[in-house]
Amino acid sequence: MQFRDLKTQYETLKPSIDAAIAGVIAETSFISGSPVKELEKRLASYVGRKHCITCGNGTDALSLAMMAWNIGPGDAVFVPDFTFFATAEVVSFEGATPVLVDVDERTFNMDPQKLTEAIEAVLGEGRLRPRAVIPVDLFGLPADYPEIERIAARYGLKILEDAAQGFGGRIGERRACSFGDISATSFFPAKPLGCYGDGGAVFTDDDETARYLESVCVHGKGSYKYENVRIGWNSRLDTLQAAILLPKFRAFEEYELERVNEAAAWYTEELTDIVKTPVIPENFRSSWAQYTIQLENKEKRDGLQAFLEKQGIPTMVYYPIPLHQQEVYQTNPVYQACPATKRLCERVLSLPMHPYLGREDVRMVSGQIRTYLK
Ligand SMILES: *Cc1c(COP(=O)(O)O)cnc(C)c1O
Repeated sequence: MQFRDLKTQYETLKPSIDAAIAGVIAETSFISGSPVKELEKRLASYVGRKHCITCGNGTDALSLAMMAWNIGPGDAVFVPDFTFFATAEVVSFEGATPVLVDVDERTFNMDPQKLTEAIEAVLGEGRLRPRAVIPVDLFGLPADYPEIERIAARYGLKILEDAAQGFGGRIGERRACSFGDISATSFFPAKPLGCYGDGGAVFTDDDETARYLESVCVHGKGSYKYENVRIGWNSRLDTLQAAILLPKFRAFEEYELERVNEAAAWYTEELTDIVKTPVIPENFRSSWAQYTIQLENKEKRDGLQAFLEKQGIPTMVYYPIPLHQQEVYQTNPVYQACPATKRLCERVLSLPMHPYLGREDVRMVSGQIRTYLK
């Protein structure tokens, strides 16, 4: 059994993916070929944003937003304590300070009440300027944007949506990658919409921001590549990756997103009486980048993981260490205790999850979990 079965996905989509790859090679337009623009157009229209700018990876996508807002030394950027390292890393990279905020244990996402407390603590201390917040759509579930938008408006903060895991989620009719001022996503192979290498994209409704982002991705270009109006980067999505993403996006839209939601419902049905299963708030939809359960304590979690491994069932611990306990953040100010994150790091376990998971697979995994816990 695979944790995320990219092989079956490839075998299912093989004719269209192979044709897409052959097409790019025949055209030899390896950089900025027509599939890149086509993908950007389709993604922008799907998520409901005016602009989509593809780039080299999800981390660059987050960094590009930091650069667009000129985030730097003396600035505080609020980041959940329970997330992948990159969310805070891009803040530190600009010389700004990530202020780590605890999460809601039921949804794994930034707790809006804790966000307000962290902002007040920073203002009270008076050393840093609150500039932005980076809510993460962890495991595919959009963060609590209705609440976070109110808080950001009250304190004049920009919102950068880290939708690296969130593509395909929604709140009501609003889709992930359309929340806040700028959204960033990743096409890392294991993400909800993955390519065959590294890739990412930034989304915004603001024309001027979009022009800036397009420029920075290509060496600070002006009207064309050899007129350079600012210091920039080389961060582009290869034509090959864009061409691979087009048929994969079609499958995602047509059935994959529905299938992961089905698989999640099966897990919840099988497991809800023996472990803590993920909570999807009313009106929210997840794209199930991960299906993550919570055990009673670390011993049970580690024991279950070892037991499942022996049965040939791969699982992952996302994430084992709170950001505030990472070595590089030991000296950084953390304005709040993050007890929920600490508990989660000891208790979470992510189960095999992908669109090609069958009813029988879910029954088997759940049966083994039941056997271990008895
Ligand atoms: C994967 C991930 C990123 C980084 O994306 P890359 O494409 O790997 O650079 C950022 N934030 C979160 C929450 C992620 O899961």
